[in-house]
Amino acid sequence: MLPVVALVGRPNVGKSTLFNRLTNTRDALVADYPGLTRDRQYGQATYDQKQFIVVDTGGITGDEEGIDAQMAQQSLMAIDEADVVVFMVDARAGLMPADQAISDHLRKLDKTVFVVANKVDGIDGDSESAEFYSLGLGTVYQIAAAHGRGVTQLLELSLAPLAPSFPDMLVQATDNEEKLDAEAQLERLQNLPIKLAIVGKPNVGKSTLTNRILGEERVVVFDMPGTTRDSVHIPLVRDEREYILIDTAGVRKRKKVSEAVEKFSIVKTLQAIEEANVVLLVIDAREGITDQDLSLLGFVLNSGRSLVIAVNKWDGLNTDVKDEIKRELDRRLGFIDFARIHFISALHGSGVGNLFESVQEAYSSATRRINTSILTQIMEMAQDEHQPPLVRGRRVKMKYAHAGGYNPPVIIIHGNQVDNLSGAYKRFLMNYFRRSLQIMGTPIKIEFREGS
Ligand code: GDP
Ligand code: GDP
Repeated sequence: MLPVVALVGRPNVGKSTLFNRLTNTRDALVADYPGLTRDRQYGQATYDQKQFIVVDTGGITGDEEGIDAQMAQQSLMAIDEADVVVFMVDARAGLMPADQAISDHLRKLDKTVFVVANKVDGIDGDSESAEFYSLGLGTVYQIAAAHGRGVTQLLELSLAPLAPSFPDMLVQATDNEEKLDAEAQLERLQNLPIKLAIVGKPNVGKSTLTNRILGEERVVVFDMPGTTRDSVHIPLVRDEREYILIDTAGVRKRKKVSEAVEKFSIVKTLQAIEEANVVLLVIDAREGITDQDLSLLGFVLNSGRSLVIAVNKWDGLNTDVKDEIKRELDRRLGFIDFARIHFISALHGSGVGNLFESVQEAYSSATRRINTSILTQIMEMAQDEHQPPLVRGRRVKMKYAHAGGYNPPVIIIHGNQVDNLSGAYKRFLMNYFRRSLQIMGTPIKIEFREGS
């Protein structure tokens, strides 16, 4: 499970500055759903080979009233989903009543909290941050988020308590170890049930689809309340293949639309994507493709997971509308050339059965053994068809290729100057491998190694 670090503090202390430094800003997923506060941001970060989720909880002051109080409530819910809380204060502004109010809240929770005095650049950090000790939350760490000062130490400290939660990351291995690793990984992947995560915005039809897949009688059994963060895991067998359905929506009684929003959690969604082998992204035909769909898609692409897209609520639409939706899909999703798109009605069941063919195809593509000599042959064919361009007058020479991992397939190419191949040539190679190996439903990663 990816651990979650929440950034908390009153407005203007530097939370988004730190957020941007920790994550790739491009990846930020803004929780812009009806009923949810707009300024909450989610992003993925990596430090020292450790991956985690960062949540910028937006500005809370701790003494909100009315609507603001509800928004603050949601920020507090985000804190509830976090493993570690980084509580930021402004060393230049000094201690404010709002800092006190927030710390009163935090003290009530059973969370690991790090108090961080930001903006210590150009001031006497020690004396300016001393007053924050009166918050009673322990050591006050000093940083300058805008300049990166103190951020590495903060990460070392705040990630240390999370050590057991980090998913295994691939460490640099020798060529031979890499091949053995890939082999062992493949063996494991081919024998385990396929973990399939059903994700999408609130109200796209995730729980309707889950119900449809399971058949109504199974649902009751699994209708158990989870914590906000945990998805429900449901084992099932389909065409003699075992699956574990990761249900992020939670099976709920279909009464209130607001329940969809209440049960929706981006942390839960991101965890499910990370845990899955194949992600089924559900989009609502009636809303078209929204920025939220694209953000979720961005996370799936980043995670390297296999992907199947279901455009739901395809029932009762007339041909003109359907054509328009298909044009929009081409326009906005044209860049994902590897994922199958299905048009379904979770409500009536049409198209739902075929989803599993694509899920199965994606998983077998992602876990099919690719042998060294075939990879090397394909690489040579690609090289013959389209010579890599010269780099500083020298020809790039790709020598051989082998598999470096699966789900997603990783192809490692050894050669001279391969580090300098252009993005365009890398894309050409990627497409060439994809076509030759007939890989569908999963991204492919290509890594380059200098020398032989
Ligand atoms: P947020 O509202 O908590 O997300 O705060 P922002 O990240 O938007 O930062 C508020 C202001 O503080 C911006 O003008 C930032 O440029 C500034 N700021 C953030 N970090 C630092 C820092 O380390 N040093 C200084 N001097 N200013 C900073
Ligand atoms: P979730 O929040 O993604 O789990 O969405 P739900 O499964 O709760 O569905 C939200 C609403 O969309 C409900 O009112 C469903 O009845 C409706 N819905 C779900 N699937 C379909 C579908 O295929 N067609 C139509 N017309 N409505 C659907």
